[in-house]
Amino acid sequence: MNLITHLPYLLKYAIQTHIEPRLSYASQYANMEKRLIKTIVKAYKDVPFYREHFDNLHVDINKIKNVGDIKLLPFLTKEDVRTNYPKKLLARGVDLKNCYTSGTTGSTGKSINFAYSMQTYMFYLCTNLRVYTMIGYKPWYKVAYIKYTPISTLHIPVLPLFRTSHIPSIITLKEQMEMLRAAQPDMLIGYASIIMDIAQHLTEKDRKYIKPKLISVNSELSTAEERKFICDTFNCPVYDEYSTEETWMVASQCKYGSYHLFTDNVHMEFIDKTGADVPKGEIGEMVATTLRSPAMPFIRYKIGDLGVLSDKVCKCGRKSPILESFEGRADDAFILKNGEKISSLKLLNTFTKFIKSDPELMNEFKFIQKKVDYATILLVPGSGYDNDRFNDLITQLKKILKLPFNIDVQFVKKIDNNGGIKRKAIESLVKRS
Ligand SMILES: [Zn+2]
Repeated sequence: MNLITHLPYLLKYAIQTHIEPRLSYASQYANMEKRLIKTIVKAYKDVPFYREHFDNLHVDINKIKNVGDIKLLPFLTKEDVRTNYPKKLLARGVDLKNCYTSGTTGSTGKSINFAYSMQTYMFYLCTNLRVYTMIGYKPWYKVAYIKYTPISTLHIPVLPLFRTSHIPSIITLKEQMEMLRAAQPDMLIGYASIIMDIAQHLTEKDRKYIKPKLISVNSELSTAEERKFICDTFNCPVYDEYSTEETWMVASQCKYGSYHLFTDNVHMEFIDKTGADVPKGEIGEMVATTLRSPAMPFIRYKIGDLGVLSDKVCKCGRKSPILESFEGRADDAFILKNGEKISSLKLLNTFTKFIKSDPELMNEFKFIQKKVDYATILLVPGSGYDNDRFNDLITQLKKILKLPFNIDVQFVKKIDNNGGIKRKAIESLVKRS
């Protein structure tokens, strides 16, 4: 796959994603509705899972004409994705070889694998770009990404544009600092807990090299206090975005701090226990339908997060709806004997790395810290479970935890979620002082 042949899409989407949020609310809603219905009709036609699932429930696809009608459709659960990927969830005629494939542990510890086409990827890259242009990114900025996998870049060596560097999220803090000092980024993008970690350990010497003009934190819930701490430490604005691996960008903060929903990418429902929409301003379970990924659409997907749809209008001029707040995604950091905190994302990413390279290694896990130097992994092994490979994972976890640390493994058939909507995959039972 090569970026150049898809450049026309990239240009088209770059323009579209920047114009659409400025249209009237009615126009954005109409566009969303059109894409939503098209997605559902096409999925029924092309994706075996949806065809079967809708037929079993006697859904008349011709009756799906507007946004409200999608309540007639069943939900898609993470379990559905796990058991039906790739065979039944890929649209007919889609060749996995021509797709981007990805996997995630989510923060629930269950592995989910999925795919999207190159064209969809072009769109996703443009929504990423929009997250950054919304807060003042310029193409000549040097960007450092803290992420567990490298990202694609549009950088052409002779031009000082789109310059990026990748700081792996699972290396030690010391190594991350060294890489950041060498990169001297204008903009820093990454997990809040890891940037928080960096902020807490920043020395006067580091400040000479690491002085970003802006910071974008992602992928986990960060509190306003944490973002303020990062902002004060680096003396630059810090913005947040909300995305999931399966749906890509869901919402992102503008300069006024509002989380604008990306309704050109995802249609989001906020529902109560009965499946009805909760009123604006009230907390609901978020259910996502992807609008841009016909190769493997997610329709009424229970992403496992809670959120509140706001009725506010933002001063920035964008008319897209605003997400008031969202909950969930608050995983626990591990606390070591010396009081040091190890980001749960760093631990989660280590599992993710193995799930990506060995999709059959484990079906589900939960990593629970029980003492300052001891933790247990509850493991539902996968069909391709391999003891040596799993020990490699444990070795890597121990490297991150640095001090002498015992990890044992308990094989289980399933992991209970205690009735909660979202179970944490990484949990610490060690008391916080
Ligand atoms: Zn705004």
